[in-house]
Amino acid sequence: MANATKPLANRLAVVFDFDDTLAPDSIDGFVASCGLDPDAFQRERVQPRVADGWNKMLATFYALVEESQRRDHHRDKITRERLVAYGRELAPFEGVPAMFERLRRRVRELTPEVEVEFYLLSSGIAEIARHNRVAGEFKVLWGCEFHYHDDGTIAFVKQFISHTEKTRYLYQIATGLDREEESGRPQAVYDEVPPEELHVPLTQVVYVGDGSSDVPCFAVLNAGGGVALGLYKGDKAQNWEPAKQVSAGERVANLAPVDFREGSELMRSLILAVEKICKQIALRQLSVDE
Ligand SMILES: [Mg+2]
Repeated sequence: MANATKPLANRLAVVFDFDDTLAPDSIDGFVASCGLDPDAFQRERVQPRVADGWNKMLATFYALVEESQRRDHHRDKITRERLVAYGRELAPFEGVPAMFERLRRRVRELTPEVEVEFYLLSSGIAEIARHNRVAGEFKVLWGCEFHYHDDGTIAFVKQFISHTEKTRYLYQIATGLDREEESGRPQAVYDEVPPEELHVPLTQVVYVGDGSSDVPCFAVLNAGGGVALGLYKGDKAQNWEPAKQVSAGERVANLAPVDFREGSELMRSLILAVEKICKQIALRQLSVDE
């Protein structure tokens, strides 16, 4: 390889948020599946704690633990089994299950030597996503994790991914998952890694998300030269919640309705993003072959 040309990584990564991106909000859905009204749960059990300075997700998880403790019979309690069952029955949005193969196929057609990796990065409950029918598509899936009592009931949050902390996982994808393990230092993820040692440079990463929880990731990908795609529900892009608070560095390459069916604006955007990266890699390949 000529020293003057950029290093080559034959790999691209597409990273997805989960709730309201690939499937309907799983926390609201799970709360409803426990026989509770999600709006009342938020209003009465979560919001007062947020007003008292709690992080909203931690307040939600605490309220779930509390709810489980309140219930007398084991069959009514909130258990791992219940989360798993809910994850299995939660239907992803139409077009989502077929999307992965569509993107893989496009990459194969353009650049057969390029490998596509899919990752799931959620601030929601990992147990639900892990048992969803699309879970097998992801190389790694990250989300918040519960610790369970011996009888399977939820006890405490053992792993928490805040909105800002989501970005850490983008660096982990870029630098390679083994780096932290091999070094034994959690902060290794922020080490300056020589470009030729990157698992997948941020310029070859696409991030897809729907909400304010995704804004930090949008910012990291914009700064790193990747592609950020924003999703919105319904038909009004101008009502997109994060749009009210984002700075220029946090804007997205395109904002499309949540619709993964073939030919939709979102699928076209995803395919364009993937094609752009494939062509970028093909160009680097030419320089390597010289
Ligand atoms: Mg979301």
